[in-house]
Amino acid sequence: EAKDTKSAAAFLEAQGIRFLLAQFTDVHGSLKSKSVPVRCLENLVTEGAGFAGAAVAGFDMTVFDPEYMMVGDLETLALLPWAPGYARILGTGTVAGTAFALDPRNALKAQCARLAAHGWIANTGLEPEFYLLRRDESGALLPFDPADTLAKPAYDYRSLANVRPFVEQIVGSLQALGIGVYQIDHEDANGQYEVNFKYADAVTSADNIQLFKMAASEIAHSLGGICSFMPKLSATTTGNGMHVHLSIADAGGDDLFRDDTDPKGMGLSPLAYKFMAGVLKHAKALTALLAPSVNSYKRLVVGTPDSPYWAPVYIAYGNNNRSAMVRIPYGRIEIRTGDGGMNVYLALAAIIAAGLDGIENDLDPGEPHNVNFFTMPPADVAALGVETLPQNLDQAINCLEADTVLASALGERLVNAFIKVKRQEWRDYHLTVSQWELNRYLTFF
Ligand code: GLU
Ligand code: MG
Ligand code: MG
Repeated sequence: EAKDTKSAAAFLEAQGIRFLLAQFTDVHGSLKSKSVPVRCLENLVTEGAGFAGAAVAGFDMTVFDPEYMMVGDLETLALLPWAPGYARILGTGTVAGTAFALDPRNALKAQCARLAAHGWIANTGLEPEFYLLRRDESGALLPFDPADTLAKPAYDYRSLANVRPFVEQIVGSLQALGIGVYQIDHEDANGQYEVNFKYADAVTSADNIQLFKMAASEIAHSLGGICSFMPKLSATTTGNGMHVHLSIADAGGDDLFRDDTDPKGMGLSPLAYKFMAGVLKHAKALTALLAPSVNSYKRLVVGTPDSPYWAPVYIAYGNNNRSAMVRIPYGRIEIRTGDGGMNVYLALAAIIAAGLDGIENDLDPGEPHNVNFFTMPPADVAALGVETLPQNLDQAINCLEADTVLASALGERLVNAFIKVKRQEWRDYHLTVSQWELNRYLTFF
C-alpha cells in the first residue's frame, strides 16, 4: 500500500517492524535474504542491498563481477505475521545499474511486458500442494498428525482438524496480508494438504507463492513439523503438484479467455486456444522448467496403470480432464505439469513465452481428449498421436536446449545458465548408486 519511503517507514514503525528481509530468488526458486534494519529502508529502495552474484545458483557470475543489487520495490512490502517485527521486500535485481536478465523475477516481468505490449495481463492461480510431516524418535518421517493413516485420506476432516494450529496460523497470516485464502484441504496422501488463494497477475502470484512457501515452512517448523514441497516423497503416494490456472485479461480487466459461445463447449475463446496450442507445442521444453529436479520425474511416470497419482504424463488437453497435461475447468486453462519444486517465476515466464508463440503464430491445439489416460495402455495413447512428457531430467534438459523459440524469448543467457545448473544436478544424481540398485543387483549377477 505504501507509496513513498517516508510513509512506508512510518507505517513499519507503527507496526513495530524492526527488520526487513531483502529477498530475491535463485535459479532453484529458493528465497535468498539479507536482514536490513528498518532505518535503512531509504537506502534499500534507492541503492539496494548488495550480494555476491557468484554465490548465487544460476546467476552465472564471477567473483570479479559487480555486485548484484536487490533494489526494493515498496509495492512488495509485506509484514510477516508469523515473525513479529519482520517484513519482507522484493524488488528488481540490478547489476551495474541495469535490470539483471538472469534474475527469475525480472525474467517473468519481461514476459509480462511482452503481454502488456498487446494490452494484456496474465492472471494466474497457483495451487501449492505439500506434505506436513514430523520425525519420530528414530528419525523416521511420519504425517504431522500420527492418526492420519486412512488408505484414502483425500478431504478427511479428522486429519484436517488435527493440524488446526498450522491451518489457523497460515490462513491468519495470509489473510492479514490481503492474500485471499479460500480453501484448504487434505489431499490424496497421508500428511498431504493444499492451500488455495485468489488468483492475481503473474508476478504477484509468484511473489505470493514465495511468501506462502516461506510462511508454511516457518510455521511448520515452529510447531515441530516439516513442510515439504518435494515433488515425490515416495513411490506409492501422490506427489506435490503446483498446478497453474491461467487466463488473459485486457487492461480494463475483461477476461479474454472466457467465451460462452465456444463450439467445443469449454468456454474458451480463439485466443485461449492459440495460447494453449503454444503451451502444448512447447510442452517438452517447458517440462524442464515446470518439473526441474531429478525427483520431479518420479511423479511423471508413463505406464502406471490405474495410477491414483493424478499427475500428467501425456501432452494433451481435455474438458475437465485431470489425466491430461492441460485441463479445461471452463473458461480458463489449468497446466498440471508443474510441481512443488518449480521456480514459480521461471515457470510462469516460460508458460507465457510458449503461449505467446501460439498466439503470434496462430497455432491450433487440435481436438480435446476426453478419455482417462491413466487407465489406457501407453500403446493405445500413442495410437491417438498423443506424445508423452520427458521421462527424466536429462531428457527434459535436452528438449529445452533444442527449443530455440523459448531460448530467444527467455534469453539465451538465462536458458544456458539454467541448463548448466541442471546438467550438473543430473550428473550428481546419475553418478549416485542408490539403495534400489544395491537391493536389486548386489548378488543378482
Ligand atoms: N497431487 C497431484 C499432482 O501431483 C494432483 C492432485 C490434484 O488434482 O489436486 O499433480
Ligand atoms: Mg490438489
Ligand atoms: Mg488443480
